[in-house]
Amino acid sequence: MKTGIWPDILAALEQKTSKPNFVTWLKPTQLLEEKNGLFVIGVPNHYTKNWLEQHALNDITQLLTQHYPEVRAVSCVITEPITSLEDLPLLQSFGTQPEESTEPVATESPEDDLAFGLQHRFENFVVGNNNRLAFAAAQVVAEKPGEAYNPLFLYGGVGLGKTHLMQAIGSAIRLNHPKKKIIYTSCETFTSEFIEALRLKEVSSFKKKYRNVDVLLIDDIQFLSNKEGTQEEFFHTFNILHQAKRQIVMTADRLPREIANLEERLTSRFGWGMVADIQSPNYETRVAILQAKAAEQGVAIRPEVMEFIANTTTSNVRELEGSLTRLISTAQLDAVEITLEYAARALKEIIRSSKEKSSVSSKKVIQTVAQYLGVEVMDILGSKRTKEIVYPRQLVMYLLRNELGYSFPQIGDLLGGKDHTTVMHGEGKIAALKKTDDRVEQDLTTLQTLLSS
Ligand code: ADP
Ligand code: MG
Repeated sequence: MKTGIWPDILAALEQKTSKPNFVTWLKPTQLLEEKNGLFVIGVPNHYTKNWLEQHALNDITQLLTQHYPEVRAVSCVITEPITSLEDLPLLQSFGTQPEESTEPVATESPEDDLAFGLQHRFENFVVGNNNRLAFAAAQVVAEKPGEAYNPLFLYGGVGLGKTHLMQAIGSAIRLNHPKKKIIYTSCETFTSEFIEALRLKEVSSFKKKYRNVDVLLIDDIQFLSNKEGTQEEFFHTFNILHQAKRQIVMTADRLPREIANLEERLTSRFGWGMVADIQSPNYETRVAILQAKAAEQGVAIRPEVMEFIANTTTSNVRELEGSLTRLISTAQLDAVEITLEYAARALKEIIRSSKEKSSVSSKKVIQTVAQYLGVEVMDILGSKRTKEIVYPRQLVMYLLRNELGYSFPQIGDLLGGKDHTTVMHGEGKIAALKKTDDRVEQDLTTLQTLLSS
């Protein structure tokens, strides 16, 4: 029985995951079944499902593929409804807010939905003035991959729907052009696969993998910043695909020319096709998104409650979704109907507790790093640029980003008003060093252990 492999897969994941993340999200999972190359993972709740889909599905697929080359898709299903507060993941005590998403569990043909981690569709993307151009361009690309806009470069702030649109392109192409070979990957995965290929002297199979696709979807390309070797490799991949009229789609949190330390030849190529931005949704679009999300969850929400949420949660769609989902689950736990009054009270509590938790834990990260490396908290928050201070500061940036899920601008604020590009640079530096410098890797492991205790 293939499900017997799960303990081994978990053991391998434990190696590459921080302890709190492992204990909270991965440990409570099981491999339920395998059918025709479709692997189904059972998870206790939708928080875990979301986390897994966002952070671990690629790794899991890769690990499974090592044992069973016939793996076609991996999907998650929720096996137990949340029955008490205790069932909610505890990672919050470590400061991370679970990323909310209301993707329905795939029922009819999960292999269509989830192969390659493509969970998002055009059908449930709400179009407003903020994303109309990006949406239209994405649809054209999905209809005629390689023919219209190549590359398509989608950019915008966190949680505004870049990944959603990019995956929707992939899902639509799989439906309309089933023969086309599609890869959806993140820039970080691309980078680590490349490094791994170098290490194992398997670069030719890496090249083969990425140069033989019809559609390459690559998420968060800003992480190419500072990675010269990977930039070089991506440059060649890009050229070969582009010359062969294969479709390339990229997302980033900023314009190509705003990506620091990215070779000019890449910056210019990224602008060859269509560059489309996604802005924050306005009030009306926020209400429309909430309506769509509530309908997806099969919950009727009063109009005044939707309006209230749309008025109070304005930053991005992910948080909008998060507020709604948490409100719904709180009301389910309390077994009450969501009135405006209830929503106001519950959301205030949700916002307050997440703020409190996050400030406590970001403080803890800074203090722990300062203590561990023998520097002053004040210096980490300050602007001294000496090596003794820059390294701990960059470690803090890395941990806030990767352990607590803060955005680059948020980290900039927490560190005494630093520019988000400085934070990106610092975080990227540690991410790169981690792979090449044993001392950095050791420091990170120790810090993660200190933080989780
Ligand atoms: P990004 O990649 O830009 O950080 P995501 O694509 O991950 O953001 O979007 C965050 C969440 O918000 C996802 O769950 C996504 O489905 C949802 N979302 C974003 N924009 C829209 C939209 N216009 N309509 C419906 N859902 C959206
Ligand atoms: Mg994204």
